[in-house]
Amino acid sequence: MQDKLTLMIPGPTPVPETVLKSLGQHPIGHRSTEFQAIVSKTSEQLQWLHQTKHDVLTITGSGTAAMEAGIINTLSKGDKVLCGSNGKFGERWVKVAKAYEIDVEVIKANWGEALDPEAFRRALEADKNKQIQAVIITHSETSTGVLNDLETISQYVHAHGKAIIIADCVTSLGACNVPMDKWGLDVIASGSQKGYMMPPGLSFVALSQRAWELQKKSNLPKFYLDLNPYKKTAEKNSNPFTPAVNLYFALESALEIMQAEGLEAIYARHARHSKAAQTGMQAMGMPVFSAKGCGSPAITAVAPKNIDAEQLRKAVKEKYDILLAGGQDHLKGKVFRIGHLGFVNDRDILTAIAAIEATLYSLDLLESKMGAGVEAASVVLNEKN
Ligand SMILES: *Cc1c(COP(=O)(O)O)cnc(C)c1O
Repeated sequence: MQDKLTLMIPGPTPVPETVLKSLGQHPIGHRSTEFQAIVSKTSEQLQWLHQTKHDVLTITGSGTAAMEAGIINTLSKGDKVLCGSNGKFGERWVKVAKAYEIDVEVIKANWGEALDPEAFRRALEADKNKQIQAVIITHSETSTGVLNDLETISQYVHAHGKAIIIADCVTSLGACNVPMDKWGLDVIASGSQKGYMMPPGLSFVALSQRAWELQKKSNLPKFYLDLNPYKKTAEKNSNPFTPAVNLYFALESALEIMQAEGLEAIYARHARHSKAAQTGMQAMGMPVFSAKGCGSPAITAVAPKNIDAEQLRKAVKEKYDILLAGGQDHLKGKVFRIGHLGFVNDRDILTAIAAIEATLYSLDLLESKMGAGVEAASVVLNEKN
């Protein structure tokens, strides 16, 4: 039905009406004092979201721009890095690093399982000559719905003494706790179309003091993504180039909504939705793809047994106008993913589960009793903490 689409994919995510309206204004001059006030305010709001006192820089681009900026601003030719890979986005980090001729050692885990922090500890402890310059991981691996243990891996990186930790927090920031300064994270990359409840178009990169020290030495080629001009202009509440002015309106508005809800409440909501989605799917006899205990707060990947995941996904879209995400690479047809990131409430979760349940019923493939998924999810959503 026209205009009825509900996005339940891990980006782009739904956008609140207040944020949509903020976009529909005339652009203002990006060197005006009015715009400087917005840059000043959003910079503070971004520090609040990242729980950091360091600068969080805004780049016009998708999340990958922030990832690439993180690499090319801290590393130099031939540097050695450890890169975690347990899904499509871990693989992306490896590709970005290799594109700049970084010497990459990949630490893998099976898709659906979390990276093993011990594997990082061992590799870092074995590095007696301090060759490793960075450890690079994806916090929430969107392709498999797995949350990696960034906090523990960051501790091992700090024990090494030289390496920095670079993290893709694109689907964890604004979904679960990512305290940049407390965990000692050196680089965090994120993008507007995920937890920020905004359309795509802005990406964000935050650097610690250690990362800025490396920035001075870094000799990888860069121009648009050279963060030095971004930092210099940020000090004057400005940007090196013409920023996406209207997306800044949306950023200010979306972060105001997030601040009104509060970080703890945002994390609790995502945790509740993740548990409800997992429990609801299992109650319908549909196995959750991520290993027990490491489900992402932002995405639940489901591996149905008796139906092609693409067929189910297409039927849910056609019958109910709910867009679920498919499986990537070898998981295509085997997995579908429910995005519950950002502007999502309990109603969205119940509706998605009910739609999946009714679709299975219509295809004569529902193995559980009708309503079992919705019932199980409702119980979780009504749990008192
Ligand atoms: C969406 C996403 C990205 C960024 O992808 P873009 O399409 O460049 O915005 C990076 N990492 C993860 C884990 C993601 O989910």
